[in-house]
Amino acid sequence: MQKLIREEMNRRGFLGGLAALAGTMFGGEKLIGQAATGAKPAAHVAGLGASGNVYEELGVQTVINGQGTMTYLGGSIIRPEVEAVMKLASQHFVRIMDLEAAAGKRIAQLLGLPAGYTALVTSGAASAIQNGYSGILTGSNGKYIEQLPDLTGLKTEVLVQKAHRSGWEHQIRVTGLKMVEVETVEDVKRALSNRTAAMHFLNYGDPDGKIKRAEWLDLAHQAGVPAFLDAAADTPPQSNLSAYAKMGYDLISFSGGKAMRGPQCAGLLIGRENLVHSALLNMSPNEGTIGRATKVGKEEIVGMVKAVELFIAENQDEVSKVQWSKLNLVAGKLAKIPGITTTRDVPPIANNFPAIQFHLDTAKFNASAGQICNELAAGKPSIILSGGGNVIEMNAINLQAGEAEIVANALAKALKSHSV
Ligand SMILES: *Cc1c(COP(=O)(O)O)cnc(C)c1O
Repeated sequence: MQKLIREEMNRRGFLGGLAALAGTMFGGEKLIGQAATGAKPAAHVAGLGASGNVYEELGVQTVINGQGTMTYLGGSIIRPEVEAVMKLASQHFVRIMDLEAAAGKRIAQLLGLPAGYTALVTSGAASAIQNGYSGILTGSNGKYIEQLPDLTGLKTEVLVQKAHRSGWEHQIRVTGLKMVEVETVEDVKRALSNRTAAMHFLNYGDPDGKIKRAEWLDLAHQAGVPAFLDAAADTPPQSNLSAYAKMGYDLISFSGGKAMRGPQCAGLLIGRENLVHSALLNMSPNEGTIGRATKVGKEEIVGMVKAVELFIAENQDEVSKVQWSKLNLVAGKLAKIPGITTTRDVPPIANNFPAIQFHLDTAKFNASAGQICNELAAGKPSIILSGGGNVIEMNAINLQAGEAEIVANALAKALKSHSV
């Protein structure tokens, strides 16, 4: 079922975004009333924000997000305590390089990273990938740092399994590196050369790839090249934040603004100290670097430390229970509609939180799952679920108070209106 979400992501990621933008600019959709978010006007704010709903004031429609921690919808709702420390962080000036080092040290302690490992707060997992690869290429050599993406004198290739290819490779290619696709162990052995900079592993690609996580790492280390693992959406469980470092992966990327509910524009690069340090040298605040455009502010750095602190202390069973109760509420409402079979799962990897699927008997409905989802998205309030083939899928990680009821009623109504 992860596939549904990923397809939705791909479909919406670029073209969906453009279409939505065009819709806002040219479509002239009427403003809608605010969904049941319970926002109150901020008493001390005049002008933008005076009503308590900045989006409505800007003429942008808010959505009920039953799809998950999707960047194109705003990721997740930041934890209030994270917001509070970001405000504290915003009151002072500090040397960003010192702050990054201290934040990395604190995160390494919180996570119990193995000796020789540390963490770097980046502007997201995509930034962790880009800067991590820059660091692999340049080390601490200032000439090479200035020269990227010109790879003269440097390694030029990254091995990746066919099943692990993704849009995030762009963050690798931006450094000048080329992707070399492999499938089998024999392919890897043939492809490895003195041009090989690293071996890339997309964590959620594990079930689909021929070479599994541990073997991939062994092959990289036998060849003496670093192994990078992209685990951006692979929290929870909390243990993943240290597991791949303990396994021996050299660099690992995580999103801070997905299920960890840190700052939306933050992520983590976890890895070997020398590589993480080299990544930082290629990154903002350092000028004349390829990563200067991936700025992370003092507020996000401090906020990310707080998000890690809270995330690892959180009772994930409780968090899950709340999500299941919301999904069960929706399922209960649909139970009496003929032609719907319900399945539930927690994906074993990536977006590892409760999800529910409603399978439509195509003989009983005169619309596809995708059409029904489009209707909900176009409705008021706008509700975003994932639809593909004859399956409507949703999760509850981003459903706010009262929204499960709204989704249940709207979905039941849409399904009934298409019942034959
Ligand atoms: C979300 C995601 C990213 C990008 O993460 P950001 O924190 O949004 O930059 C990269 N890789 C994978 C696998 C992801 O799911």
